[in-house]
Amino acid sequence: MASSKEKSFRRIKKSYTWFSVISLILFFLISAAVINGALIFFVLYSVNAKLDSQYAIIDHMANIYEESVRNNDATLRDVLIIKECPDFFVLDKNGKELERHGKNTYTTTGGQLGTLFGHKDYLVYEDAENKLLLFTDGGLVIPAPIPLYHKANQQLNTDEVKAGDSLEDIDDREVVTMPVWIETGLSDGSRFIAKGQIQIRFADFIIFLIVFMCLNLIVLLLLVIRLIKLISGFIRRKQMTELFLVDDVTKGNNWMAFLLKGERILKKRKNAGRRYAMIHLVIVEYRNYCMCHSLEEGQRLLFRISCVIEESLSKKEELSAHVSSSSFALLIEAENDDAVKERFDQLLKELKNVDIPQGKKQPGHSDTFHIFRFQAGVQIIEPDTVDGKVVKRKDARIEYYYNNAVTAKSTLGTTDDDGIAFFDSQLMEEERWIETVKEHQQKALDNEEFVVYYQPKYSPDKSELIGAEALIRWQSPDFGFVPPGRFIPVFEKNGFITHIDHYMICHVAKDQKKWLDAGMRCVPVSVNVSRAHFAESDLADQILNMIDSIGTPHNLIEIELTESAFFDDKNAIIETIERLKSYGFSVSMDDFGSGYSSLNSLKDMNLDVLKLDADFFRGDADPARKEVVVSEAIRLAKRLNMRTVAEGVEEKEQVEFLKQQGCDMIQGYYFAKPMPKEEYEERMKEIYHVPD
Ligand code: C2E
Ligand code: CA
Ligand code: CA
Repeated sequence: MASSKEKSFRRIKKSYTWFSVISLILFFLISAAVINGALIFFVLYSVNAKLDSQYAIIDHMANIYEESVRNNDATLRDVLIIKECPDFFVLDKNGKELERHGKNTYTTTGGQLGTLFGHKDYLVYEDAENKLLLFTDGGLVIPAPIPLYHKANQQLNTDEVKAGDSLEDIDDREVVTMPVWIETGLSDGSRFIAKGQIQIRFADFIIFLIVFMCLNLIVLLLLVIRLIKLISGFIRRKQMTELFLVDDVTKGNNWMAFLLKGERILKKRKNAGRRYAMIHLVIVEYRNYCMCHSLEEGQRLLFRISCVIEESLSKKEELSAHVSSSSFALLIEAENDDAVKERFDQLLKELKNVDIPQGKKQPGHSDTFHIFRFQAGVQIIEPDTVDGKVVKRKDARIEYYYNNAVTAKSTLGTTDDDGIAFFDSQLMEEERWIETVKEHQQKALDNEEFVVYYQPKYSPDKSELIGAEALIRWQSPDFGFVPPGRFIPVFEKNGFITHIDHYMICHVAKDQKKWLDAGMRCVPVSVNVSRAHFAESDLADQILNMIDSIGTPHNLIEIELTESAFFDDKNAIIETIERLKSYGFSVSMDDFGSGYSSLNSLKDMNLDVLKLDADFFRGDADPARKEVVVSEAIRLAKRLNMRTVAEGVEEKEQVEFLKQQGCDMIQGYYFAKPMPKEEYEERMKEIYHVPD
């Protein structure tokens, strides 16, 4: 359920797609632009060079013309008209035609060419009949596939082809002719306009076309290769995504898939007005089932359950996933709480018989079938609204909703039958408080807002103060007095408890040292060390260093370990206990008898003190039976050389009974409540008389 994993998964998915698409488009555009740009430049350059040479010829003809007019030389004129240039005309300054020869197919469309290719300034016009060279505002344009156009119009100079010519000869003579009109000025200001012919070998066009096609083919080829790579990348990623999103056991969605798909469903515009229910569904005692049958059988069961759940969903807009061994997440549409309950009941009906195989008996499956219990926590997801109007959900905090559903489920006892619990405002408050505590904890520790209270432990006749337990209190400037039940469980969950344990040991050691130095009669004070802390292998040395740095005698400090801690790594705990004892600290088992039996732990662990849980002295259980259990527990402790402390003693009769049974110490409201250290100091000074 790691959200960082989810984030990197999303990032990989996104960045890879964008990178591929953008790089492909860029690659294609740049290559195509460079290659085709170079080719067009080359063609324009050669056409312009030919134009320049045509201009030189026409300028030369204009000179001949001018010479012939000036000298009235008919021969020269004949040479011009017959040999050099059959099509030309002359206009005076006012545009009046002075002379014309040949066919006038001149148009006024044209103009001066730019200086890109370095040619001289002269005017060029299109030919009316043969529009192979055109002029636009941008300059000279050659319409596309000229040779083909030319062939279609059968304008190749094939008449010059003679029998016996080789193919190469024919090719050489096959030219594409592109007529243009070029103007040059005469010395008297009149204009000489003549028809020029730009000729390009047909073979050159073919070569150009081949080069053009080859280069474009290369680009296309590279593009295809890139595309294939991209597609195979997409396919690989899709496979990888599936690997990421499919649950190994159920072959359905896993948590990651649930997060991604759930978010999509909730954020869809058409689902904006719909109420949804996020459900945390748990198979109670799934572990027992696996132990009775096998892990494989358990996994087959999960597969069947997943199928049943999926079948119960409306396909597109609802979702389910296998989250952990015994739990599933469901996102279903929900009109209201009753509708969710109805769906849950319906689902339960189908799930109840999931262990009974349909049709043929499965190999390895016993004849007795398990009837399962299911529990669910639900968080209702309301539509988002702005000014009372339903709007599309901006963010879909799937993880948050699911955590709330898990919190709701945790309110159901493990012994409850099938049950469903909704995340309500009270739970919401609780969640808020957990967050608030987390935000304030460090500041509270730094500002010493945590205060040590001491609860004395007396001998049963109250003649002697034998010890005390240090109990934490939070005097918060923001929240006032906060009892430990409101924040210790939060610290235990978020790990801050280890800081608290250090803080308490340190403060108790300092108080003890101060009292000792003041010549007061000090008794051992026990400090609670959380179960989480006992997992640290160097815990005994941490405590030793801390206490030695203060200089408190070791026999004045006792470490209380709660009974449930003995279920963790047994060897590590035994090791820590032995070390603590070897350093001279007492170690006690707190809350003995409150939870699971810890008799077995007593067998392995050499503890100094057994603290009988307050539950022995509360409740409606048969007093006679209670007394038997308590007296036997005390006897057991004695036989194991352990001293006993009875906690939560509130009544005189209880004290009397414990005294008779030989209980060593009483810690309870009957004698003293936990108190501030100033009050405890007074208690230390008091002398008690043994009552008669
Ligand atoms: P605990 O270690 O079992 O502490 C004994 C609790 O029983 C204390 O509650 C004490 O005030 C209460 N108690 C003692 N005598 C009587 C009695 O006659 N009647 C009743 N009704 N209650 C009695 P408190 O101080 O509220 O502490 C609750 C729990 O918070 C503790 O249970 C302990 O688990 C935890 N805790 C308190 N201080 C610390 C601490 O410094 N570190 C750690 N790790 N946990 C602490
Ligand atoms: Ca305790
Ligand atoms: Ca206790």
